[in-house]
Amino acid sequence: MKRAQSPILEALRIAANDDAEALRFLEARRWGDAPACPLCGDLDVYQMADAKTGERNKDGRWRCRGCKRMYTVRTGTVMAESRLPLRVWCYAFWKACSSKKGVSAKQIERECEISYKSALFVMHRIRAGVADLNPPKLSGTVEADETYVGGKPRNRRKGMQGQHDKTPVIGAVERGGEIRFRVMERVTAAGLKAALREHVEQDARLHTDESSAYTKLGREYGGGHHTVNHSKREYARGEVHTNTIEGAFSLIKRGMYGTFHSVSKKHLHRYMSEFEFRYNTRKLDDGQRVAAEIKRSEGKRLTYAEQVSQPGA
Ligand SMILES: [Zn+2]
Repeated sequence: MKRAQSPILEALRIAANDDAEALRFLEARRWGDAPACPLCGDLDVYQMADAKTGERNKDGRWRCRGCKRMYTVRTGTVMAESRLPLRVWCYAFWKACSSKKGVSAKQIERECEISYKSALFVMHRIRAGVADLNPPKLSGTVEADETYVGGKPRNRRKGMQGQHDKTPVIGAVERGGEIRFRVMERVTAAGLKAALREHVEQDARLHTDESSAYTKLGREYGGGHHTVNHSKREYARGEVHTNTIEGAFSLIKRGMYGTFHSVSKKHLHRYMSEFEFRYNTRKLDDGQRVAAEIKRSEGKRLTYAEQVSQPGA
């Protein structure tokens, strides 16, 4: 049965196949009817024409009468610093958010007929775009736990956590709310404490397993520190459990091995940003999620010229 498609996904499907459509789509998403200059905010702007044909410049350039500078829909977004066609970006925006598991660079390479390196670049830029740079702290009942991800699938076996090719990730989730991840070099009580201080309100009710790494830091939380003893096969005591964060970890692992195969340690935090975004927008439909993804991709990329023109920025 064919599902009803949201208008934004339908528009993206078209934009992913045609550069002129892609330009129109991205400009409409970004500016609507008021194409303000992204460099100074002035509304007195115009589309530049091709000197020979008199048609619209095919790179989609605009000029601002306020600051006299040129810009395009890429300026000040994750698409800056790239000459890749806009239809490629549209395809990647579309696929990264409209399926449960995301999209691999391999698939972008194949579908858009670009190099693997370019495809990887696009996906890393999109992941940087969705990263929440200043997320609110979690409150209420918060579950925290750590896991180990990455490494080669054939080494994957229960009870082999912590081996050298895996990277520890700390996760904290507010029940019914958002999730935060932090990629660590190794798990220490001090590292856990710093990560939780950054992401969890002091009056939260903290749930973890019985690991001693949490004992001392647990005292900081006003709602108390409640543990389940996994080594004694205790997985829940009434409300006290860490099933939410463990469920999120297993989703990540399935996505990691199913879609991305192997992820280098260096880039792991980017994948975690993507999972975070997907989890935290789980109540949105696919179209709304894609709209949020594109919106967030703005303002994540400042060129050198823009930085020097913004005192104090
Ligand atoms: Zn301007």
